[in-house]
Amino acid sequence: MTPQVYLRRGKEESLLRHHPWIFSGAIDYIKAEDEAEITEGALVEVYTHSGEFIALGHYQIGSIAVRVLSFERCAIDAAWWRGRIASALDVRRTLGLTDAPDTTCYRLVHGEGDSLPGLVVDIYGTTAVVQCHSVGMYRARLDVAAALREVYGSRLTAIYDKSSQTVPYNARLGAVDGYLWGSSDHETQVVLEHGEKFLVNWEHGQKTGFFLDQRENRQLVKRYAAGRTVLNTFCYTGGFSVYALSGGAKEVVSVDSSERAVALAEENVRLNFGAEAKHTALAADAVEYLRDIGDRYDLIILDPPAFAKHHKVLGNAMQGYKRLNARALSQIKSGGILFTFSCSQAVSKELFRTTVFSAAAIAGRKVRILHQLTQPADHPINIYHPEGEYLKGLVLYVE
Ligand code: SAH
Repeated sequence: MTPQVYLRRGKEESLLRHHPWIFSGAIDYIKAEDEAEITEGALVEVYTHSGEFIALGHYQIGSIAVRVLSFERCAIDAAWWRGRIASALDVRRTLGLTDAPDTTCYRLVHGEGDSLPGLVVDIYGTTAVVQCHSVGMYRARLDVAAALREVYGSRLTAIYDKSSQTVPYNARLGAVDGYLWGSSDHETQVVLEHGEKFLVNWEHGQKTGFFLDQRENRQLVKRYAAGRTVLNTFCYTGGFSVYALSGGAKEVVSVDSSERAVALAEENVRLNFGAEAKHTALAADAVEYLRDIGDRYDLIILDPPAFAKHHKVLGNAMQGYKRLNARALSQIKSGGILFTFSCSQAVSKELFRTTVFSAAAIAGRKVRILHQLTQPADHPINIYHPEGEYLKGLVLYVE
């Protein structure tokens, strides 16, 4: 028997609006023939207090106790997985990403945004990189791989699982990264994004190997870069740096605290523009580096890692964003353009904007908002799950 989760009275409301999470506090009791069936990652049926079926989902110990897979009674079988993957692919086809000659990497599955909570799948050429963020998805990874193979056919040659760092540590799954199917001859592959070349290493790189979520925002940097002296902080692969050079920047400086990231940024610049490119990469703390940059730069990119991983540390995180932005805003050359981002899910668009507003006030500069940026369409937001909107960006003109 599938274990049955019974909610406390009235706790079904958000589910009736198709929000895909059930918090542990909403659960009254779990019914199973055998306690042993209530394992982490198990498929469970969810019922209202009065016994009406409401959803099917993956159970997990933690604040989010159930991640909903379906609001209808159905079998979560091979056909179901195939259906969800095919639907995700349809969206990317609609976006023009599946057969684009100049972009060979994109996100195929974006968790809740694709009604597959806890699952991320990124496509790099003919390799799919699967990253599970929940125990349920990790246990289902072979079903996911089978569905990917069926839906993609010969267009895929390998499926790599990179979940060891993203599945909950406490679940003690002993997850080891590796190929679920096929393999790759080269550890590092070259992908194209808007015609720019990037080296991607899903085995050793951060996340699934590349930050696909900045694709459209990088394109915007390219549009503004001509003739500018550009500082790209938290550069990782040098994504923004490559676009800035492609857009005709006079000079680009890339900064990251990781030596490996700095080397990768250098390699990517060389791959696109050769050794003569006007580019310098530095291994340094970006906040420190920004302490004294003078008025050398007239285009600055701030793309830090998530300062606030959860709400408890929000206060400190906002101080961090404020300091960073104030330093950039107070020194950027007159007529300069600042691209500033936050990828913390816990930071709302409003809170981010207020924080940058405070930074502008501290810097005492006249600032106009030119663009308000977010994640690209292959990172869709489930309308019933506004938490899915995690990437926020502002493009500011500083007089
Ligand atoms: N802008 C990148 C993604 C940034 S990810 C892109 O377009 O792909 C965040 C990066 O910040 C990581 O590479 C990490 O190594 C770096 N980082 C983290 N803390 C840092 C710090 N204090 N100073 C500089 N870089 C830092």
